[in-house]
Amino acid sequence: MPLSYIQPSIDSPWATYISQVDRVLPYLGPLARWAETLKRPKRALIVDVPIEMDDGRIAHFEGFRVQHSLTRGPGKGGVRYHPDVTLEEVMALSAWMSIKNAAVNLPYGGAKGGIRVDPKQLSLKELEKLTRRYTSEIGIIIGPHQDIPAPDVNTNAQIMAWMMDTYSMNVGATATGVVTGKPLHLGGSLGRVKATGRGVYVTGREAARRIGLDIGSARVAVQGFGNVGSSAAELFGQAGARIVAAQDHTGTIFNGQGFDLALLVPHVKATGGVAGFQGAEALDDESFWDVDCEIVIPAALENQITPARASRLKARLVLEGANGPTGLAADDILAERGILVVPDVICNAGGVTVSYFEWVQDFSSFFWTEDEINVKLDKIMVGALKNIWDTADRHKISLRTATFAVACERILMARQERGLYP
Ligand code: NAD
Repeated sequence: MPLSYIQPSIDSPWATYISQVDRVLPYLGPLARWAETLKRPKRALIVDVPIEMDDGRIAHFEGFRVQHSLTRGPGKGGVRYHPDVTLEEVMALSAWMSIKNAAVNLPYGGAKGGIRVDPKQLSLKELEKLTRRYTSEIGIIIGPHQDIPAPDVNTNAQIMAWMMDTYSMNVGATATGVVTGKPLHLGGSLGRVKATGRGVYVTGREAARRIGLDIGSARVAVQGFGNVGSSAAELFGQAGARIVAAQDHTGTIFNGQGFDLALLVPHVKATGGVAGFQGAEALDDESFWDVDCEIVIPAALENQITPARASRLKARLVLEGANGPTGLAADDILAERGILVVPDVICNAGGVTVSYFEWVQDFSSFFWTEDEINVKLDKIMVGALKNIWDTADRHKISLRTATFAVACERILMARQERGLYP
């Protein structure tokens, strides 16, 4: 365990983030003087979350909320409930939110939260108590103008409703803008559920066009058939692409002609996974990475594209729906092999973009149609990718380093303009 909490442990997500910042330093010009700002979270809060369990025991959980940067606006980022959550992981996720928000030019800093818990071991009542106590504990730093949480791994619209209610009770007024990803009738936004998958599709469509890859005849392999993976798959399917492979925690399926998504999506909803789908053959999990296809969408977990898998991939385009699916070494191998990666910090930014729309709608108490949301999302994602693409072309760097260059420049320019207090 390093002595200082900002020193990264070996191979940790925070270490990956620090290396990504180091790679971008040569492109920051005089702003590099401020770069140390990016390597330290502005604020990290650790809280004890005690609750009385259904059997009368008092259980304690570790909770975190990290505000990596508030330079460009309030903090914004999800809350994760997972037994592996650590301060260092939350620091990395909050820093990636700073990059993502700046990359699409949302008026936000970056933040993230988490509780070290396996929520599947809790009853619904215990989950509600945990959420309410955690919200109260971090209530001193969150708020519609301070820091706005949202769902992440193992948290959902119901948890956001409890967070909004708890915060509102504590401040004595209904504050819908304190969280996003809420249920629709509590100030949630149309289009939010599928927004991340839609962003993956839009950035993929644009990247494919620029490398002369016809989506209408492309074969796509999707890892993770949850919210992000299935939404992206449906949009690629509607554009004429064939989804030839899908993998989730239940197994891997393949059909060279493409799945009938009108049957696969309900099958996954009904059975909880892709395994056992009639219109496909089962593959062993490792073979997923050998499938003949033009596009691979990792939309499940971190560190899925290892150096070995990067050496075997047959695709021309990797669209990172998940956060952190490609390690640094694997990233370099993909670049050497001429496989284009649209990195997570832009590819999956559709979710936070529609969260931003939700926040804006909550403030004005005026709600847009789903079509309006989708058109605005498309426009923002296309513009952001164009800017990143041009930056990559200008400096002859990867899209990932270009995304960091665009985002870090925006954050550090704002830092320089604000100056140091006092
Ligand atoms: P989800 O829970 O809806 O789906 C996760 C999928 O991953 C499921 O299909 C699950 O079966 C699969 N999976 C789990 N373990 C696996 C394994 N070992 N091998 C293969 N597949 C496995 O989650 P989601 O919201 O779709 O999120 C997926 C990823 O996208 C995560 O990395 C998340 O951080 C990222 N992300 C999500 C959003 C969002 O708005 N939901 C936004 C940005 C980034």
